[in-house]
Amino acid sequence: MRKLVSNISKSLSLYELLKGMKLTLSYFFAKKVTIQYPEQKTPQSPRFRGLHALRRYPNGEERCIACKLCEAVCPAMAITIESELREDNSRRTTRYDIDLTKCIFCGFCEESCPVDSIVETRIFEYHGEERGDLLYTKDMLLDVGKKYEKQIAKDRQQEAKYR
Ligand code: SF4
Ligand code: SF4
Repeated sequence: MRKLVSNISKSLSLYELLKGMKLTLSYFFAKKVTIQYPEQKTPQSPRFRGLHALRRYPNGEERCIACKLCEAVCPAMAITIESELREDNSRRTTRYDIDLTKCIFCGFCEESCPVDSIVETRIFEYHGEERGDLLYTKDMLLDVGKKYEKQIAKDRQQEAKYR
């Protein structure tokens, strides 16, 4: 009986409604956690695992020595490499594809690379309208590396002591 009276009085006094409004009001003045994306961005870690890139040395030479460690370690079998010997007996890739529809962005390829050639960048705003658009070829990956080398080098330097 006492419970029934309590429920009725709560109902008549709009207790639940006022309780909800109090909560809303408390968040109205609290510090906002949502951001106005894409104008505003959340902070990113130097270890962010986004779009892949292939890097070159400052003299323009490709870093990749076609050792195929990244291809072997990739759990999604997303990497395809073909290679040949150059005239100077150095080995370089003739094909380096990453199928981003298979990639799970685990970062193993980057971890396995002995020459810091294949890396994952901070880029996450990319898309493909057809399946083939997400098959990144060697030239496309080198272009990403060229465009973002400054940021890539800075991130690697920051993380060097942990590797
Ligand atoms: S991030 Fe992982 S899944 Fe993606 S290509 Fe590299 S090793 Fe493969
Ligand atoms: S990207 Fe690195 S791990 Fe992969 S084949 Fe080239 S040198 Fe080897």
